[in-house]
Amino acid sequence: QSQELSHVRIDYHAALLALQEQGTRMVCTGKMHTDRICRFDYLCYCTEAEEFIFFHSNSSVMLPNLGPRRFQPALLDLSSVEDHNTQYFNFLELPAAALKYMPKPVFVPDVTLILNRFNADNLMHIFHDDLLPIFYTMQQYTDLDDEARLVFMEGWGEGSHFDLYRLLSSKQPLLKEHLRNFGKLMCFTKSYVGLSKMTTWYQYGFVQPQGPKANILVSGNEIRQFASFIMDRLNITPEERPKGDDYIVVFSRGSNRLILNEAELLLALAQEYKMRTVTVSLEEQTFASIIKLISEASMLVSMHGAQLITSMFLPRGAAVIELFPYAVHPEQYTPYKTLASLPGMDLQYIAWRNNIKENTVAYPDRPWDQGGITHLEKEEQERILASKEVPRHLCCRNPEWLFRIYQDTIVDIPSFLEVIRDGLKVKPNLKKSKPANVIHPGRVRQPKCQTSVQATHEAKLSVSWQIPWNLKYLKVREVKYEVWIQEQGENTYMPYILPQQNYTFSENIKPFTTYLVWVRCIFNKNLLGPFADVLICKT
Ligand code: UDP
Repeated sequence: QSQELSHVRIDYHAALLALQEQGTRMVCTGKMHTDRICRFDYLCYCTEAEEFIFFHSNSSVMLPNLGPRRFQPALLDLSSVEDHNTQYFNFLELPAAALKYMPKPVFVPDVTLILNRFNADNLMHIFHDDLLPIFYTMQQYTDLDDEARLVFMEGWGEGSHFDLYRLLSSKQPLLKEHLRNFGKLMCFTKSYVGLSKMTTWYQYGFVQPQGPKANILVSGNEIRQFASFIMDRLNITPEERPKGDDYIVVFSRGSNRLILNEAELLLALAQEYKMRTVTVSLEEQTFASIIKLISEASMLVSMHGAQLITSMFLPRGAAVIELFPYAVHPEQYTPYKTLASLPGMDLQYIAWRNNIKENTVAYPDRPWDQGGITHLEKEEQERILASKEVPRHLCCRNPEWLFRIYQDTIVDIPSFLEVIRDGLKVKPNLKKSKPANVIHPGRVRQPKCQTSVQATHEAKLSVSWQIPWNLKYLKVREVKYEVWIQEQGENTYMPYILPQQNYTFSENIKPFTTYLVWVRCIFNKNLLGPFADVLICKT
């Protein structure tokens, strides 16, 4: 494999002079190490010391200039996994004058994105932690274009799906081990360090048991645009399927966590839905051919596992059926449920779990990382064998969890069919849902209040407003308005929902009192707009 850096020649002498005179320049986004991405001119890397180097000169720039806080705990996260202490980035500092005594630098002319992959042997991690964040980090900085160079610093080999990383740019990605081949000192002419975490939806349980991230910022729209990009790069063109040629994909695993009665499951699905069924596995088909099949499927059925990340390639309206082995609670392991349930992802999600102990096949004698438990104390082994459910736990080496998740399963067909019948609200794929881009109401316009005093204990407060400016361009099923009235100085307010654009309040309105009034628009019961500026109304 050639690791030639570029066909673009750079003026070596000019680059060296610039580095010596200007040193390194860094400007970052983000207030915290967990949300920071930095852009560098002339960031260098010493392959012997395995350290990045910032060269100080009179014109170098370091923003933020954190002083020693740069080590508390780090400048930034190199992977998209939040605050993981094996994924920190920092640099060593040197005066630019030290260059005189150092090996001659090799310049990397490409605009480079420097990052850590989190787990390049697991398809779910590859997509969630690396490919999606790289794709959207590249969208954020326009000079990270198709010619950009990716540099993976986590220190591993290519991993099991390196071809997927190659799809992101036309240049061969570099691994840490490749950097040595270029010399002792490399300098990246222009580079970005770190990854956007905007697209991640799952946390793996390092500090609290795994689950959806607290503040998910991505919707199905961005996932689908990324999926289309990947399909495009894999030369997969989505086709409208001829009527009546719908099918179900069963994604099976070839080496562990098996479905032991796969043939029976396929037959039951075919009979129930009057559709063809197809099985795929990463051991049997190419990734591209699997994605092509999934992208036109009505339903994807699979054991819990990384292969389910391919559900992002399903068409809108399709169903995802995730199977869980005995003693594993589906609600505690929800990366794929969370993905399917992202707003605008438009997938139906159903979990089935094996509740019948006789239908599970466990492997206590396997190595610990494949779920074996014979290395544990006898009592602990017995407790695990007797347990009906894995208790909540942290990542990543809980032996009871590994033991249970690596079981094979005979799927009980009646309970399986019952769970999907109950769960599928509409027939899969028949809901030809439109790409529903959610549009929120604007502020109501020209809010006004008028007041009058009727008697010593009676007053009226009339509030009126105009429709939000964007409403005239939209077809909205139901438009309502919410009005909050608060007596000045009080903590509570009275909320009202109204269909019209004006209303006269007389209940609970006192004379000679100041009221604060907020008005906002609501589309279709739950799409809230912003409040207009507060009205101050004196009776
Ligand atoms: N894998 C596979 N077939 C198997 C078992 C695993 O293709 O029989 C793949 C799986 O999709 C993932 C990787 O191997 O990309 C690691 O699997 P592991 O069981 O460690 O992770 P999990 O699937 O539980 O996330």
